[in-house]
Amino acid sequence: MAAEYLEVAFNLPLNSIFSYSLPEGEERSPEELIGCRISADFGRRKLTGWVVSAGDTLPEGVREAKPVHRVLDDQPLFSDDLLELAKWISGFYLCSLGEALSVMLPGAKREKDLPPLGLGGEEEEARKAVTLSDEQSLALETIVGSSDSYFYLYGITGSGKTEVFLRAAEDVLAKGKSVIFLVPEIALTHQMIDDISGRFETKPAVLHSHLTPSQKLKEWRRIQSGEARIVLGARSAVFAPVKDLGLIILDEEHETSYKSGSTPRYHGRQLAMKRCRIAGAKLLMGSATPSVEAWSMMEKGVFKKLVLKQRPAGGGLPEIRVIDLKQSKSLLSQELIRTMESVLQEKKQVILFLNRRGHSYYFHCKSCGYEMKCRQCSIPLTFHKNRNRMICHYCGYQSPPLTQCPDCGSMDVGYAGFGTEQVEEQVAAVFPQARLARLDTDSVRKKGVLQETISSFKRGDIDILLGTQMVAKGLNFPGVKLVGIVLADTGLSLPDFRAAERSFSLITQVAGRAGRYRNDGLVLIQTMRPDNHAVVCGSRGDLQGFYDWELEQREIMAFPPFGRLIRIVYRGKDGKKVLDALEGLTESFRNAGLPDVMGPAECPLGVISGNFRYHTLLRCSEDFTGIHRVAAQIIEGTEVPRNVYREIDIDPVQLL
Ligand code: ADP
Ligand code: ZN
Ligand code: ZN
Repeated sequence: MAAEYLEVAFNLPLNSIFSYSLPEGEERSPEELIGCRISADFGRRKLTGWVVSAGDTLPEGVREAKPVHRVLDDQPLFSDDLLELAKWISGFYLCSLGEALSVMLPGAKREKDLPPLGLGGEEEEARKAVTLSDEQSLALETIVGSSDSYFYLYGITGSGKTEVFLRAAEDVLAKGKSVIFLVPEIALTHQMIDDISGRFETKPAVLHSHLTPSQKLKEWRRIQSGEARIVLGARSAVFAPVKDLGLIILDEEHETSYKSGSTPRYHGRQLAMKRCRIAGAKLLMGSATPSVEAWSMMEKGVFKKLVLKQRPAGGGLPEIRVIDLKQSKSLLSQELIRTMESVLQEKKQVILFLNRRGHSYYFHCKSCGYEMKCRQCSIPLTFHKNRNRMICHYCGYQSPPLTQCPDCGSMDVGYAGFGTEQVEEQVAAVFPQARLARLDTDSVRKKGVLQETISSFKRGDIDILLGTQMVAKGLNFPGVKLVGIVLADTGLSLPDFRAAERSFSLITQVAGRAGRYRNDGLVLIQTMRPDNHAVVCGSRGDLQGFYDWELEQREIMAFPPFGRLIRIVYRGKDGKKVLDALEGLTESFRNAGLPDVMGPAECPLGVISGNFRYHTLLRCSEDFTGIHRVAAQIIEGTEVPRNVYREIDIDPVQLL
């Protein structure tokens, strides 16, 4: 008997498939509609869902199936292999099939009249092919020639990793297979993509978060048809429906933006490994500062390690000095000011880096100890002087700045802690002649500002560029002689097991911006914690030292990569209800004999947007699969009370 019904998954946290009949006038059979989107009534709502199978019977207890309103697609959006992957995601990251499909697939409403895809606009000068250095050639030969599956290109900043990536991609394309090239989702993704795109004969498909849903859909179709065999994009491009996958490249492997922040909380690296395993393709990762896990995988030989130690375009490694900011009266130390002066006199450029925007971030009363925090979150508000507001960086809550303590009325109040706005103020005061620009998410809110500032710095029309992460990533400026890290330890006080790793990586990446094309580059690192291990190793460029030490700490704690973690967060407006519910679940974990149950405890960010947050951690030093299976059963069998929300994070990258 031919199937009669469409079995549909919705983007809802429900582990069920729902049956519908065909709409009037639909000529295709249910089998032919697998992979298409439909719109249908679901309870009182009208939802978009995905046809995941065709059925010839209705589920028990269901007497008749309603027809769907419409089939939205002329051709399926996904085929068996992506459906398999979605099922795996649903099982591993503990979400519904519909939730998995919703992060994988483009979500445009209709497929008619798609607007043309405008990429970037002005043509960047395309990256030209160069003669590979010996190191690069060796790396490329190994990737192309070896039968290994996972490769890691570990090369210092400026060592020409991109060139090796592009050659490896060209080799795979020449063999008629397809390539997915992943880059982290950062402000500059767009620019990097333009830069790489120019190298390929046929136009790559591009998938990133700045595309509209219908642009995404259009690119999706170009990939499905085989017209585009190379796909460039951020995290979710790992799901691109390429034919005959030969290679996935994952640039800047250490970037946390490869991990999704919402359900399902998947990691791009993990999905890349999975897809390559299924397709028999190769995975090529790269970074100057590998994640601690990746480092350990290289040491174990699971990832084949390929090393680039030289900068083929010239440019020596910079001299790095550490400045103890505790000895300084101002946030710009005398040494930093003097060095900036002499660099500016030479008509060379300066980058100043601080990983914190706003003017100051901590308002407190010196009489009673009151601390100003967001009314909805458990974190201090940041004072934005330019806008004359106190702003919460988590929920966006704003209030006018205070001059008096709201608790005791004392006028003896003040701000502490500084952000980029305050640094800008002070730099402008010390160097009134210098041309100064600031790059952070506040300064680039207006469209085009980012691109404009970067171009003008490249041209030499700006002397000092001050900014957050935005200036740390993927930028090459020939004229930069000095990089100053205004405060290296901003991230170190976070109560998170990756705080040291992230700080180390940031210091190393920022330092890599100095002297890319010269031999007298200089990096000054100001810090309150000159003895901290991440700061010490970062300033010495001692990667081995850092990873050895960090791995030792992780081993003591049985934290990744020595153990794997499963994190369950419950949140809601009623704190007691949230905690009670999570206590119940945690009790079930314990009763089931799971070995290492930690919690429930308040999350380090205990309240966000008025939601109280508690978490329980399962630590798995061995038998992760077994623990995962038991935990999954318990979670599935446990109802969450009304107005309490559950977040499940398998292999979390942070515990805040
Ligand atoms: P990474 O990605 O490792 O930080 P890049 O790929 O940005 O390094 O390369 C740094 C610079 O070196 C770029 O300007 C690039 O064009 C140049 N480059 C790369 N390989 C070579 C080579 N073999 N010969 C000359 N220049 C090269
Ligand atoms: Zn007070
Ligand atoms: Zn807030």
